[in-house]
Amino acid sequence: MNAVPTIDLNDGRTIPQLGFGVFQIDPAETVEAVSRALDVGYRHIDTAEMYGNEKEVGEAVRGSGLDRSEVFVTSKLNNGFHRPDDARRAFDRSLSDLGFDYVDLFLIHWPLPTLYDGDYVSTWKTLEEFQRDGRARSIGVSNFQVDHLRRLAAETDVVPAVNQIELHPYLLNEEVRAYGEAHGIATQAWSPIAQGEVLDDPAITAIADRLDRSPAQVVLRWHIQRGSIVFPKSTTPARIKENFELFDFRLEPDDVETIAALDRGEAGRTGPNPDAFAYVPA
Ligand code: NDP
Repeated sequence: MNAVPTIDLNDGRTIPQLGFGVFQIDPAETVEAVSRALDVGYRHIDTAEMYGNEKEVGEAVRGSGLDRSEVFVTSKLNNGFHRPDDARRAFDRSLSDLGFDYVDLFLIHWPLPTLYDGDYVSTWKTLEEFQRDGRARSIGVSNFQVDHLRRLAAETDVVPAVNQIELHPYLLNEEVRAYGEAHGIATQAWSPIAQGEVLDDPAITAIADRLDRSPAQVVLRWHIQRGSIVFPKSTTPARIKENFELFDFRLEPDDVETIAALDRGEAGRTGPNPDAFAYVPA
């Protein structure tokens, strides 16, 4: 009843379409949250060096009694490390913090087009090395705009397996999603419920009431039916469970359209604009 579908990636691998995100989970709470998620049935965890909780994610996966191969784990290259040698050291550190000899997916977290002479191309070629040596089973990008993806296509050999972008009912990010679909790049929707902002929308609560589901379940199901990969974050046990219960109901095509019509374009963005974002942690 609750089998999570998988999405085929362009490198021959597969990824569970539903996972668990750990952004803004305090390291001290991460082992408990991830362990609970694995208990509920999640088999895909999305972390990043930037989140400061890779160690605890690794600890929870190892402590779960599951085989490493049963859990799909993603991490990301932090913004301070785009230069190839820095990226190599940062990747070594991520693996060592996680306590793994490979990650299932490794992403460039942000393109940072205004930093590093706008060079995310040599960074991408460095991720290609990690894939060749088997320590990153799949590689991808995050927050890349169409221009950035076009440039990678023109200057490198490997098409990213995924692009992880802000995407929810208030920001459809349609141009970027459609480019991905046309070029075999799977879309991962970050902040899939806009950190809770969309849950009071009357259009969403009306559908939720009719289907006797929660607004979060309706929005997450909407993503699933549109083919995006999602990993909602929660540290609340009941919500961790609720967010996993998406596969015993369906939205009607009209409901999918009604939710898509809530798009506010750029005004719906809750996070930074990737063209301008230039934050490098101290
Ligand atoms: P989400 O859209 O997943 O929302 C999380 C928030 O919603 C939390 O405050 C949580 O509260 C609340 N919530 C979760 N489930 C429910 C529910 N069923 N009902 C009501 N409220 C709920 O936001 P995130 O920004 O965390 O995005 C998800 C993941 O995406 C991240 O954890 C991270 O892995 C990834 N991400 C990637 C980014 C990137 O740049 N690549 C940027 C941002 C996120 P509580 O925990 O208190 O239950």
